[in-house]
Amino acid sequence: MQFIDLAAQYQHLKTRIDNRIQTVLDHGKYIMGPEVAELESELAKYVGVKHAITCANGTDALQLCMMVMDIKEGDAVFCPTFTFFASAEVIAFANATPVFVDSDASTFNICPVDLEKRIQAVLEEGKLTPKAIMAVDLFGLPANYPEIQKLADKYGLKLIEDAAQGFGGEINGQRAGSFGDIATTSFFPAKPLGCYGDGGAVFTNNDEYASLLKSLRVHGKGSDKYDNVRIGMNSRLDTIQAAVLLEKLAVFPEELVSRNQAAEAYQAKLASKFNLPQVPEGYVSSWAQYTLLDENRDAVMADYKAKGIPTMIYYGTCMHQQTAFNHLGYQEGDFPVAEQLSAQVFSLPMHPYLDSDLHNI
Ligand SMILES: *Cc1c(COP(=O)(O)O)cnc(C)c1O
Repeated sequence: MQFIDLAAQYQHLKTRIDNRIQTVLDHGKYIMGPEVAELESELAKYVGVKHAITCANGTDALQLCMMVMDIKEGDAVFCPTFTFFASAEVIAFANATPVFVDSDASTFNICPVDLEKRIQAVLEEGKLTPKAIMAVDLFGLPANYPEIQKLADKYGLKLIEDAAQGFGGEINGQRAGSFGDIATTSFFPAKPLGCYGDGGAVFTNNDEYASLLKSLRVHGKGSDKYDNVRIGMNSRLDTIQAAVLLEKLAVFPEELVSRNQAAEAYQAKLASKFNLPQVPEGYVSSWAQYTLLDENRDAVMADYKAKGIPTMIYYGTCMHQQTAFNHLGYQEGDFPVAEQLSAQVFSLPMHPYLDSDLHNI
């Protein structure tokens, strides 16, 4: 049994993907070929935003947001401590300060109540300028955007949605990638919508952000090919990856149904044994991971291993416990919910082709 079975998915889509890749090999426009623009238009349509701008990976997508929003030294950006490293990394890479926030115990996402406390503490201290909130759609579940947007408005902060894991999620029919001022996703192979290498995208309804992003991802290019008008990056999505993604996006809605069926099967089988992930009323998860809790997770994981079922830990170390962030001076106990999550979570296999494997769980 595979944790994420990319081979099963490829077998399912082989002819379509092979043909799409062959088309690129035939036209030879490997960088910014026609598939890139086609994918961007399909992504924008799916997510329900004006602009989708693809780039080299999900971390670059976040970094491009930092650049577009001019986030810099002296700025505070609020982000969950229980997340993947990249969310916090890009804030520090922009020379701004990540201010960590505790999690909600039932959704595992950033806790709006703790968020407001952390914003007020930064304001009281008066050293940093609160600039933005980076919420993360952890394990596929959108963060609590109705509450987070209220806080962003109240304190005049920009809101960034890190939907690297959230692509396909929804709140009351509104899709992940469309919340806040700007949103990002990743097409890393293991994400809900993955390509066959690295890839990412930024989503926004803001025309100014969109044109800036298109310049920033190609060395800060201007309208004249030989005049660069700002400092940018080289962060484009390869045409071959766009070709793969076009075929995967076409079947993504069906795959999302299968992922949710797998989650329901887990819920039915495991509710009596473990603390299971909660999906609030009106929310849809894309189940980037099926993550559950147990006080004796090591023993539980060993049992699964003996049965041939792989498990993983996402995430065993919070951001405030990472060596790279030691200098921020956080203490053990500063984020009780997130610390408990990191000590108890483990994830079971999750992908759209689990069907028969589910009997063994
Ligand atoms: C995977 C991930 C990223 C980074 O995406 P890459 O494409 O691997 O650079 C950022 N944030 C979160 C929450 C992620 O899970």
